[in-house]
Amino acid sequence: MKVHFLNVGHGDMSLLEVDGKKVMVDCCATDENDALSYVRKVFTDKVIDYLIITHPHSDHIKGLKDLVDDGFEIKQIYESGYRDNDNDEEVYKYAIKLFNEKSAKKLKASGNKVNTDYGFDIHCLNSNNDNGYIHYDSLVIKITENGKSVLFTGDSNCEVWKEKIMPAYSNQIGSDILHASHHGSRTFFFCASEEPKEDKPYKEHITGIVPYYTVISSKSNEEKQEDWPPHEGAVEIYTDYTEKKIYITGEKGNVVFELNEESCSVENLTFNEDSMRIVDGRYLRPQTTSVNNINSNYPTTSKSKYMYNPIRNIFSKENAPHRKNPLWPVKETNEVEINATFQTKQGKTSNYYSNGDALPKGGTIQFNAKTDVLGQYKIYWQIVNTGYEAEAAGAKQLRGGFEESTEHNMRREHTQYKGSHMAQAYVTQGGVCVAKSEEFVVNIR
Ligand SMILES: [Zn+2]
Repeated sequence: MKVHFLNVGHGDMSLLEVDGKKVMVDCCATDENDALSYVRKVFTDKVIDYLIITHPHSDHIKGLKDLVDDGFEIKQIYESGYRDNDNDEEVYKYAIKLFNEKSAKKLKASGNKVNTDYGFDIHCLNSNNDNGYIHYDSLVIKITENGKSVLFTGDSNCEVWKEKIMPAYSNQIGSDILHASHHGSRTFFFCASEEPKEDKPYKEHITGIVPYYTVISSKSNEEKQEDWPPHEGAVEIYTDYTEKKIYITGEKGNVVFELNEESCSVENLTFNEDSMRIVDGRYLRPQTTSVNNINSNYPTTSKSKYMYNPIRNIFSKENAPHRKNPLWPVKETNEVEINATFQTKQGKTSNYYSNGDALPKGGTIQFNAKTDVLGQYKIYWQIVNTGYEAEAAGAKQLRGGFEESTEHNMRREHTQYKGSHMAQAYVTQGGVCVAKSEEFVVNIR
């Protein structure tokens, strides 16, 4: 089997030539990365026997239209079954339309093989559970031929592994090559429900996978956006548990492996063998730039157990895809500030400060906005919740939109789900947002 991990920037796209069949996993081809010309060279007859889409986030599907327009014939699509009716991005709508046209098969996790007709196996270890959280529902796929295997983890997070995969399929996860989850994000090792646990990542999955090689599909550290993956903490763990070497596509370009019964070799790579020395019987791996360059400005103080840790940036679009963009043009000419008070179930009231100690459930928090905007204005509140409890409670509880004030300049919320949640006030005047507050973080235990 031959596996090509394409360098597509922040996104995933891989090709496999296996038992005479052509398989594509995710499709992040763009004009910029020109991945399609590479596909034309490898899949010369323009036929794709299996197209596997781990989940319909744009960085995994945005090349589908160009692929079809370019005349590629797609015989069978496998997908996670995840749907987001609020998503009106063109690439998302196109993907769903294509799934319907091609009668895509929604894979279900099971210990059994998906296909049995050919000399290779596709196993699905995770699939959609309709809980409304896309990375919890990302496909996790293992492809095996002649005893050699590649594990595609999509954007699956730590919770998926802990709660779904490891209890059911821990004996099936071992793989020669690991395609790292979520572009090397820390979400693979640090569960959002238990943060911050900088010192105690979840590692049971990686100790069972024990790959020879790990590939991270992402931009290089120099090119990636701040706080975006790959994250230092995750790269370190991958490096520790990868037998031979890890590659970041943004640094190495396309990474191609040839796997046969005897060996697993890397093609077209110019890494320096001298930098891989054996010390005390084990490989001393060369430090990747990701480990050296990233993170120098990360705060080093560790916070109490339930506090929001800004290192994770859990309220960013990337980590909280349910967070909506502002509904108005934002031209900040004024200021607005949030003060909050918390009232327990028993009626005891106290001030609460952003990112303060975790509050108990069952109470009420009241946000008050103070602004210097004069004349007529209206305040909207963006409430973003995160944390595994809110996610598990389903899509309806995963909030990220804009809501009106409960009373003049004030918004009241109940403390319901364990995790860190965020409120931000937007002052609008004449259809323009003239002031927005800092993100006010509420921790709940
Ligand atoms: Zn992704």
